[in-house]
Amino acid sequence: MSLLQDKVALITGGSRGIGAAIVQRFAEQGATVAFTYRSSSEQANAIVDGINGKGGTAKAYQSDAGSFEQAEALVKQVLEDFGRIDILINNAGITQDTLMLRMSEEQWDKVISTNLKSVFNLTKQVLRPMMKNRGGSIINMSSIVGITGNAGQANYAASKAGIIGFSKSIAKEVGSRNIRCNVIAPGFIETDMTDALNDQVKETYLANIPLKRLGKAEEVADVCVFLGSDLGNYVSGQTISVCGALNT
Ligand code: NAP
Repeated sequence: MSLLQDKVALITGGSRGIGAAIVQRFAEQGATVAFTYRSSSEQANAIVDGINGKGGTAKAYQSDAGSFEQAEALVKQVLEDFGRIDILINNAGITQDTLMLRMSEEQWDKVISTNLKSVFNLTKQVLRPMMKNRGGSIINMSSIVGITGNAGQANYAASKAGIIGFSKSIAKEVGSRNIRCNVIAPGFIETDMTDALNDQVKETYLANIPLKRLGKAEEVADVCVFLGSDLGNYVSGQTISVCGALNT
């Protein structure tokens, strides 16, 4: 059974890591997948070729999620290409970790713009087309750090906590239009983002994860399939942690 047959999904940051796993899983489940990247055009093209080569439909778009104008142009183009957007996944995100005493205004602005303003930018653009289609599912990628906070990540934690408040508000605002909005809060998932952490930080995390292993990008993607598909039809305004019980 294909859980996402006939659905069109727009996924930000689909060239690597969790986003790339979501793109693959969505294509496997029959969705038409439009996804963005910032600079990894080679990886993005390889993903598109892989999916289209197997009879699926995927297209990559270079678009900075933090730019309001680019988000507007992106959604217009995706609608021209595929006619509708049923699922939006705001996944693009970055870290610029440092202690507060050392954090520059630029490090604050960059993380808030890429991780939080991006969610506003894209959500704003898809709401009208979703209303026209009489439904939709928006999934925003937060982090358990947005719930717990983390020393050295005040900018990142603020952006991820902001996503939770934003998503609950959107769920209340457009629920009557059959548009759902949920948050996924991953714990420690194996990607380039966590590869960059030093071994001591990784070992400390590992010691505190009850499931005793890091998560896989595909395990986050599977929850996106649930929330994006009709299986999640009565789930809205929720934050689901995918963290091996780290945040419990
Ligand atoms: P990643 O491996 O670093 O990949 C990030 C993706 O986002 C890439 O495709 C990147 O594109 C894209 N991106 C970055 N800035 C962008 C921008 N301004 N516009 C458009 N795309 C942009 O990260 P990840 O680990 O997969 O993380 C994905 C999401 O999950 C993020 O929101 C992150 O905060 C969240 N998360 C991750 C973890 C974890 O343990 N990995 C835990 C909690 C939450 P390019 O390839 O072109 O750079």
